[in-house]
Amino acid sequence: MDLERTDSLRHVDVVVLGAGMAGMCAAAATAAAGAITLVVESATTIGGSAALSHGTVWTVRDTDVLAQEDPGKYQKHGNSVVVGFDSAVAELSGFGTALGEPVESRRRRAQRFDLPLTFLRIAQKVHSSGGGIRTACVVDQVAPGETGYRVRLRGSRDEIETSSIIVATGGRQADPSVRAELAGPASVLRSNEHSDGGGIDLACSLGAGINSANRGFYGHLFPHGVAPLSGFDYRALALYHSTYGVLVDRNGQRFTDESAGDPRNTIALAAHGGDGVLLWSQATQERAATDPGPIDLVIDRWSYARDRGGQVARAESLDEAARIVRAWGFADPAGALTTSRLTGSTVFLARVVPGVTYTYGGLNATYQGEVLDGNGDVIPGLFTAGADMSDIYHEGYCGGLSAAAVTGMTAGRAAATWALGDTEPAARSTIKTVP
Ligand SMILES: Cc1cc2nc3c(=O)[nH]c(=O)nc-3n(C[C@H](O)[C@H](O)[C@H](O)COP(=O)(O)OP(=O)(O)OC[C@H]3O[C@@H](n4cnc5c(N)ncnc54)[C@H](O)[C@@H]3O)c2cc1C
Repeated sequence: MDLERTDSLRHVDVVVLGAGMAGMCAAAATAAAGAITLVVESATTIGGSAALSHGTVWTVRDTDVLAQEDPGKYQKHGNSVVVGFDSAVAELSGFGTALGEPVESRRRRAQRFDLPLTFLRIAQKVHSSGGGIRTACVVDQVAPGETGYRVRLRGSRDEIETSSIIVATGGRQADPSVRAELAGPASVLRSNEHSDGGGIDLACSLGAGINSANRGFYGHLFPHGVAPLSGFDYRALALYHSTYGVLVDRNGQRFTDESAGDPRNTIALAAHGGDGVLLWSQATQERAATDPGPIDLVIDRWSYARDRGGQVARAESLDEAARIVRAWGFADPAGALTTSRLTGSTVFLARVVPGVTYTYGGLNATYQGEVLDGNGDVIPGLFTAGADMSDIYHEGYCGGLSAAAVTGMTAGRAAATWALGDTEPAARSTIKTVP
């Protein structure tokens, strides 16, 4: 990236923290509005978790389906994602990076994008609007200033003045203590390794309130005992087919309706100690090993986990399956195994833990992405988007890229309006003062 230019930026309209899907979509909106934007990214490359994904931007068909998929009481901003999806996809399509045609089903809408190329095109737009993207860089301190905020970068004595800040650093899951507290000590990270709550902490230093009662997260069941080595593992080890299996906890009991889907099964397991056993039939195994699924990846996840040292097994009867579960240190699951989900003699087993992609409890915010303080009042000039924003989802999951895109673009537009007011770009300097 053009470090020379970003080094010389001292007064900007908007600072965006984080160059993942939310931060880049926010920057696309601020740059489109004519705001001089500096994006600060702690990793050496841009893209965040989106760069590890398949690039499928999807959500549910309507708000009725949203309510079924996520009945949680803290699900507050999911409606904005569902309602704003089409225009966010249209804006992304404007970068000329859509792959294939849009897909619509009874419950879902989706469009795949070449996201790395999208982000490069957004970066060009940010540069051509007078701003820049600074990678391998962390903001150490933010304080109210004369014209908004003063931002200090780590390792630098210089400060950057900005009218507004958008916090889009991707949640808190990369902090092992947060993950252990939410999903159990054996849970694993399933996202970029930089989203450790740094942006949320900075916002809290300015008085932001967070919703720690929302303990939800997006994730997938992972085989116990396998340390993911790459972004590929994040997809290859995710046990999507738990939807058709039987999940038992350490007491050998079923505790959730597995048909609700793997992300919800993962949240449920976290609430039941974060250590379980997933069992599935031969028929499910055959389907799962040949179905490309939502991420277009054909892989036999049971064999892949076995070859990577995961705790998996195969039994030729329910009695043998129960013996294996007991040998793994769990209570007798025999009562949980008499279900039509395990018809046929062969049973596949995997000891499973939650893989955490991103946390749902973050910064309290309005629908426009304005960050709220502990009293519920707007903190002027401070915005948030994506996984840092609290309460997009709570007990379910209806698309992470769509959530980041919609909330990012919304926060970007609001931050640009705050920074620029109604004045023409040539006539303005940075204009608003934080009381
Ligand atoms: C393997 C995988 C596959 C996925 N597949 C899909 C899919 O097909 N469809 C879908 O909808 N969703 C998918 N997701 C989820 C989706 O990628 C995320 O929900 C979404 O990208 C989150 O975007 P974000 O910008 O909020 O956070 P992030 O992507 O986490 O971006 C945050 C950025 O901020 C940076 N950062 C962190 N701390 C700081 C700091 N203090 N200062 C500056 N920068 C900081 C990080 O390095 C990162 O670049 C997938 C996720 C993974 C991991």
